[in-house]
Amino acid sequence: MKKYRLLVTVIIAMGIILIGTLNPITNFHKSTNLISKGIIQKDDKEKNNKEDEKSFLICIDPGHQKKGDSNPESVAPGSSQTKARVSSGATGVGTKKPEYILNLEASTVLKHILEDKGYRVVMTREAHDVNISNAERARFANEKKADVVIRIHADSLANSSKTGASILVPSKDSKYTANIYEKSDKCAKSVQEQMKKAGIQVNGVFERGDLTGFNWSQVPVILVEMGFLSNYNEDQMMSNPDYQRKLMQSIADGVEEYFMTK
Ligand SMILES: [Zn+2]
Repeated sequence: MKKYRLLVTVIIAMGIILIGTLNPITNFHKSTNLISKGIIQKDDKEKNNKEDEKSFLICIDPGHQKKGDSNPESVAPGSSQTKARVSSGATGVGTKKPEYILNLEASTVLKHILEDKGYRVVMTREAHDVNISNAERARFANEKKADVVIRIHADSLANSSKTGASILVPSKDSKYTANIYEKSDKCAKSVQEQMKKAGIQVNGVFERGDLTGFNWSQVPVILVEMGFLSNYNEDQMMSNPDYQRKLMQSIADGVEEYFMTK
């Protein structure tokens, strides 16, 4: 009897194994697994899209435009003091290139580098023949709720020997910008550090309480003066695509560092 019982047990066990491999329920499980994997993948996609939406937004403001506009606008919200809406900017001493052209050229390089890093970028202008005042540029970035604004300019002085980049930030002591000073300054310091690392001459970070484009800003903002158009060599350098890319890469790296430690 014991032998039979063993034999019956073995046969039943084999039967169970055999049914197990052919069992349509197993196949059903396999396909449900695939479906659920598909759903998981879809969920991941949606999550990534949401993360994209959450990615930092940078507003780039290429300084000036083809024609300045000397009509007045308030230098700050509610202020009776006025300044020209937007000036026409400087011109390269050697290249004869107007600043507004150089600024947009460099800004476009910066835009692509930042987008490659995965950031969202908006520009106050992508053409020369526009009329957007400095206050309007700031309000544009406010409306977009930009995480930071990078204003791109080039310097000019009567003293043609002066060289180097400068980074301007809103004033700590101004009632208009005290609340955005700290973050702006932090971003400026990161950009300065990355510029120095790239071997670019930087003269420092300077507070400015007199700039309309800063006073109207409700979001952190820095202004990069890339160098001096009044210096023959630096004027040439700023129009050199390799130097331009190196300079913009260092700004992008600085912004990235700022976001990472924010
Ligand atoms: Zn300028």
